Amino acid sequence: MGGDEKGGFDRPAYSGEESCVMQYFAEQAKASGLQHHYDNLGNLIIETSGAFEQWVETGSHVDTVPCGGNFDGLAGVVAGFVALQSIAKLTPPLHHGLRLRIWRGEESAAFGITSIGSRAAFGQLSPSSLTMKCRGKLLREAMSDQHADPAAIENSTPSISADEKEHIAAYIELHIEQGKLLETEQRNIGIVTAIRGSRRSWISLSGTFDHSGATPMGNRYRQDCNLAMAYMHVRLDELVHENITNGFDLVQTIGVINSHGDKNENLAIYNNAVSKVSGAAFFSHEIRGADANEVAAYYRQAEILIHNTAAEFGINARIETFSDQSGIGTLNENIQQQITDACDDLKLSHAHMPSGAWHDAAVVAGQQRRNGSAIPVGMIFIPCRSGISHSPDEYASSQQIADGASVLATTLLQLASRNIQAD
Ligand SMILES: [Zn+2]
Repeated sequence: MGGDEKGGFDRPAYSGEESCVMQYFAEQAKASGLQHHYDNLGNLIIETSGAFEQWVETGSHVDTVPCGGNFDGLAGVVAGFVALQSIAKLTPPLHHGLRLRIWRGEESAAFGITSIGSRAAFGQLSPSSLTMKCRGKLLREAMSDQHADPAAIENSTPSISADEKEHIAAYIELHIEQGKLLETEQRNIGIVTAIRGSRRSWISLSGTFDHSGATPMGNRYRQDCNLAMAYMHVRLDELVHENITNGFDLVQTIGVINSHGDKNENLAIYNNAVSKVSGAAFFSHEIRGADANEVAAYYRQAEILIHNTAAEFGINARIETFSDQSGIGTLNENIQQQITDACDDLKLSHAHMPSGAWHDAAVVAGQQRRNGSAIPVGMIFIPCRSGISHSPDEYASSQQIADGASVLATTLLQLASRNIQAD
């Protein structure tokens, strides 16, 4: 569902295509004797039958980026569904109930916001999100079209009440790795230790446009923005490596230089030419890390470096942070151990690793119960071919998904069979 002519998949948040896949799982749940319902945000919840005090949960998403793959998100939903289906048939009865949450809109590609369904479910999505647009529709309109209620976001009303939150014993999400570590190291399963957050900024540089032939070399004569930018990039690369050597978990990317529609116009980038000293430049800067303090500490160093380099070249630098999302420094260690035990039982090799990408699991891991403790959260990664994701070439084999589903089912069953809290 949502297949496109390039062999990719287009299932934006709150689209008919996304709803169609959710409806498929609702029908499958019914056919399998599992309970299901939609919350007022349009998230689909599938549960084992029976009354339970505590619930062990899994979940993921079915939306995609434009021309995306069919495994990012969906692999976790399929694995979760199969796990519930097979465990529900078992006797003796479970101590805790099992629940699968199929979240709406995890990908930010549609409305520019990640994890719309899970954030809103915990009452943590800003009402201003409703005015974001995708395919010419406001989020508010797209939600209504899919029978979800935008008023819940307008009023910041969570669909998961404080009581319900209190009774989530654990949450485990399976996902494709979206990187190459497992394939390179030839491991079956990734046990996720942390989820990286990100801080993103635009850096705008302004100097002086001069004649390239008549202006002598050297900073005394030239206020060359492109040259200053090149030095900044090399120095930022050295700086991040220094921090990594000192034990920080960081990845840094300069994804865009001098090529953004709005910013070209505002900064007069169009005035740059082959025969001119560059008087304007800009670039994007993204730093990702699991530990918010490490990201903040690094960011302060990067700001100083950018301003010092700008001063050295006699130009001005303006830094505008447009997104700042804290990561999860450590996922629950007991659950990491449960997943490790499941891998050992199933004779599957594994590696411990942080998640470089954001997931709904990070939203759940950020939730606190009344006593201040966090909901215990874990993540299971399966390999994907060449680490490719967000592309029609995204692929995980049936065996890789089945291995992951077995680890997920074993871990969920362990947690649901014991009369103890995962934390
Ligand atoms: Zn995903």
